[in-house]
Amino acid sequence: MAQVEKRPAVVPAPLEWEYAPAPEARDIVEIRERYGLFVGGEEVEARTGERLTSVSPSSEEELFEFALAGAEDVDLAVSAARSAFEDGWSAIAPAERAKYLFRIARILQERSREFAVAESLDGGKPIRESRDVDLPLAAAHFFYYAGWADKLEYAFPNRAPKPLGVAAQIIPWNFPLLMLAWKIAPALACGNTVVLKPAETTPLTALLFTDVCRQAELPPGVVNIVTGDGTTGGHLVRSEGIDKVAFTGSTEVGKLIMRELAGRDVRLTLELGGKAANIVFDDAALDQAVEGIVNGIYFNQGHVCCAGSRLLVQESIYEPLIQKLKRRLSTLRVGDPLDKNTDLGAINSREQLERIEALVASGEEEGAEIFQPECTLPERGYWFRPTLFTNVAQSYRIAQEEIFGPVLSTLTFRTPEEAVEKANNTPYGLSAGVWTEKGSRILWMAERLRAGVVWANTFNRFDPASPFGGYKESGFGREGGRHGLAAYVRFE
Ligand code: NAD
Ligand code: MN
Repeated sequence: MAQVEKRPAVVPAPLEWEYAPAPEARDIVEIRERYGLFVGGEEVEARTGERLTSVSPSSEEELFEFALAGAEDVDLAVSAARSAFEDGWSAIAPAERAKYLFRIARILQERSREFAVAESLDGGKPIRESRDVDLPLAAAHFFYYAGWADKLEYAFPNRAPKPLGVAAQIIPWNFPLLMLAWKIAPALACGNTVVLKPAETTPLTALLFTDVCRQAELPPGVVNIVTGDGTTGGHLVRSEGIDKVAFTGSTEVGKLIMRELAGRDVRLTLELGGKAANIVFDDAALDQAVEGIVNGIYFNQGHVCCAGSRLLVQESIYEPLIQKLKRRLSTLRVGDPLDKNTDLGAINSREQLERIEALVASGEEEGAEIFQPECTLPERGYWFRPTLFTNVAQSYRIAQEEIFGPVLSTLTFRTPEEAVEKANNTPYGLSAGVWTEKGSRILWMAERLRAGVVWANTFNRFDPASPFGGYKESGFGREGGRHGLAAYVRFE
């Protein structure tokens, strides 16, 4: 019998993957030098004659110019929406309305690669996320609300729902196309027409969406897009002809809008900031929890209103969890958003980068301990390393204020009661996460957490059938699901 040679025991070296560049081709999207406004089904120049420039935050390259709409431009768009509402959109058979929404959903699917590249170029998010999250969810939203368009009487039995009229919709820069879908799909399904204003750093996918409207042969004026900055949003909110405002963005601007609309017969929904607690109990599956924590705060560079930005860890597992988390952070790849291997892309704008830097500096000054993995950042563009703070007191700014960046603040707790108290100790209430193997504890926690969404053993999971929205200063009204229809109907 042949002697089996004894080999020395192999100790596996720590995995250090080298990734070759895997860039998505950008020539699938055709970006023009300049875009006008989309009013009454046509592209028009702004009366102001003024323009803004959108840059790519990962390269600081100037991508295109777009119109800065003024009061007069906004009024023209609102009139176009009013005419479209009265001339037919509110009166066509609901099953016909549904067909347009189905068409939009299908076109978004067909053009998803193009839209994903556009989103990553203009806003800086990794292509993996725009391709696998933003685009499929945007299409799913249109599919979902297309299904409700001819079933509204079942959503609101015996109540004869009627459309409101013209909806003014203002969206932020963190999920540009997805927020457009969250706003436009339910509004149209209920028979309203819209004037939508995208954010000033990320108007590209909304401008490309005008082409989808044409392709779907949507009647002119049903969707109008006015680009510009906060002043444009202000004109839209003050416009006489609107029946509804739907806003997603900062709590500060949400409060301004509420003040502006006080005393006017205009319906309002607000989806504002958050400071969500992601709570890990000592019986949780730690490796899964680490993945959930990473997804909770580093997804989309932390530019997520429901981000799990406060990690609450039960004391007995604090050390091992933080060890695992630090090791995991060291494997995250930061860089070119168009590279398919990238985990964290660019910070959306220089202003946002400065906001993040200021809050992180305050955390260090107040006495928190900072951890950032080694990683080489590109020379141009706006970048911030994934950041973990430990030794954080509840009074620190990094534990209280929304950072809206890839920055996690860690606190500890001993009992479930203490976890609830700390989690709820915030002016916000948009979301929360609970990690435990005990089903009864999940229910116990969910009952007590003052947050619109509570995820159990997962985080940042979205579905068009599931309502989303806040408590307290995170806003009011729900988007998604049957609840999301209520924001766009009235009853006589
Ligand atoms: P923002 O609230 O200023 O911008 C959101 C949208 O509102 C944009 O389209 C903007 O043009 C418009 N807007 C600005 N001022 C307006 C006004 N007076 N009237 C009407 N519309 C107006 O948000 P920002 O300055 O881009 O970001 C600031 C902070 O807000 C971030 O650091 C983050 O904390 C938070 N934020 C939250 C969300 C969210 O999804 N909840 C999104 C973006 C930003
Ligand atoms: Mn941009």
